Amino acid sequence: MPTTSPAAPAPVLVLVPGATGAPADGGAPFHLADATVPQLSVTDLVATRGDGIFETIGAFDGVPVNVGPHLARLARSAGLIELPEPDQAVLAEAVDAAIAAHQPVAELSVRVMLTRGIEGAGTPTCWIHARVSDDWTPYRAGMRVAVLDRGLATTVTGTSPWLLSGAKTLSYAVNMAAVREAKRRGAADVLFLSSDGFVLEGPTSTLLVRRGEEFLTTPVSAGVLPGTSVKSLFTWLQQDGVAVRDELMTPADVAGSDGAWLLSSTRLAAPITHLDDAELPVDHELTARFQTVLKGQA
Ligand code: PLP
Repeated sequence: MPTTSPAAPAPVLVLVPGATGAPADGGAPFHLADATVPQLSVTDLVATRGDGIFETIGAFDGVPVNVGPHLARLARSAGLIELPEPDQAVLAEAVDAAIAAHQPVAELSVRVMLTRGIEGAGTPTCWIHARVSDDWTPYRAGMRVAVLDRGLATTVTGTSPWLLSGAKTLSYAVNMAAVREAKRRGAADVLFLSSDGFVLEGPTSTLLVRRGEEFLTTPVSAGVLPGTSVKSLFTWLQQDGVAVRDELMTPADVAGSDGAWLLSSTRLAAPITHLDDAELPVDHELTARFQTVLKGQA
């Protein structure tokens, strides 16, 4: 008898008309909606111009991690692209509602999306979409990473703020193209390089490097996203008296390090086994402890 796999739990959609102020119709600030039917207008500026921002929050065994820092970063991105300030209290409640409405699962990916809205309307569109996370197990075991030139200098935020480096915008086509290029090169992910020769971040992740008993990451001033995951790990390491630091590093610094990871909220800590052709040491036990911290279960 052929076996049929059980149906995947249905994704949950919460529309948030009150994300940046009371809804014009006097209705509730957020409500559940049907995730299986189209909901977005074709004239929404996120559809026509990729003009919007987002956050992806991980929820593990039903408990979301770093909701406050994610919503604070959403507000920071809103400031950088001149969108109205999101109401973080309303969004935090809406995130909880999305998770509560989802069937219980081990790992949930909760996206908070805020767009410039329908062309001419002047009101942002906001929704939250919760779905079962991708299976990141192979990445958490270790992955090859290709170094790819981002073509921007580490001075970009000062020289060209309109490039929105360090904002989490919904224009990720370039980031996804970089991952495809990495795959063509036999790698699973990317470490971006600045035009002045320093490693930056991954297309969806922050770099963490171990040098002896010290842990380092790229300074946010270099035009990278301020990662919530690296912040959690730094706080945890510092509690143990471990030194953590921001530093501009070259690919050779990473290749010659005592270990390196790409960190993010749903994939968690993915150790780098090879940076281009250079093999790096992988500490699976430490990586497992990082996963526990990043799941909020330490
Ligand atoms: N850098 C970029 C460009 C990202 O897109 C992400 C997350 O998606 C990160 C870093 C990691 O951020 P966090 O640890 O807050 O998930």
